[in-house]
Amino acid sequence: MQDSIDILFYRLLFGDRKDLKEIDDRDKEHAIKKAIDVVGSEAQLNKKEIYEFRLRLAMHLCPAEAIDYKKTNPLPRHEIIRDYLTNELGYDRNIVDRLSRDLHNILDSWDAQRGTVAHQKDTLLTDQEYRCANCHISFRGTKFTGDCIRELGPDKPIPHIDHIEPVSSFGTNDPDNLQILCSFCNRGKGRGLGVDVKKEMKYAASNITDIPEKHRMEVYYYVINSNDSECAICGGKDCFLTIRKVQDGGGFARSNLEAICLDCI
Ligand SMILES: [Zn+2]
Ligand SMILES: [Zn+2]
Repeated sequence: MQDSIDILFYRLLFGDRKDLKEIDDRDKEHAIKKAIDVVGSEAQLNKKEIYEFRLRLAMHLCPAEAIDYKKTNPLPRHEIIRDYLTNELGYDRNIVDRLSRDLHNILDSWDAQRGTVAHQKDTLLTDQEYRCANCHISFRGTKFTGDCIRELGPDKPIPHIDHIEPVSSFGTNDPDNLQILCSFCNRGKGRGLGVDVKKEMKYAASNITDIPEKHRMEVYYYVINSNDSECAICGGKDCFLTIRKVQDGGGFARSNLEAICLDCI
């Protein structure tokens, strides 16, 4: 049984790139040491790989009762995991004690990340001085010119909590992975896949009033974000930014748009 866990660690770490028959004892020893090391420290792999590895490790080494842990369960999560590793998988109790606590923490942090982030909104807003992290529009009231209203749509900017790295690619609920975006930037960011070039072509020659709002939002978010949320003229980083064509006669295309602050329009 110990053997199969060692091999499992190896597979989790290195995928199926190596035929399992080729794994010798030294590889197995290396794999299990590395697996435990990875769970305990952040060496060797990048943040996303470590996170993914930890989740896979937890899914493979914890019983269903610990993965879907009910708060009403009288046993602590790590004890359920430890008992499973010792009784079902045949591990030595002394060896798995720390491992089961680490696995418990991985599952706890996964649960926490699925939880709500709404309570962090006020802190984030204060940190960002009540402005959108991308276009810096103020949630405390901004005087619009007619042109800006056309770009932003008729709505007042509403603050939304955004995961900088999306939850779908293992972004966490840590405050440093969260920011406030206005409703326009938030919808423009979407899943972060950028602007569809077919749509860009379709509307490149249209009047701005004829361009669907969703496409305008995507272009708006993209152009400001790829300008590092700085005004292309004055370099300002605090003032509300909007987008303007570089060449007036050119198209509504990313390459012909730049971020400009309200003062420089
Ligand atoms: Zn914004
Ligand atoms: Zn400016």
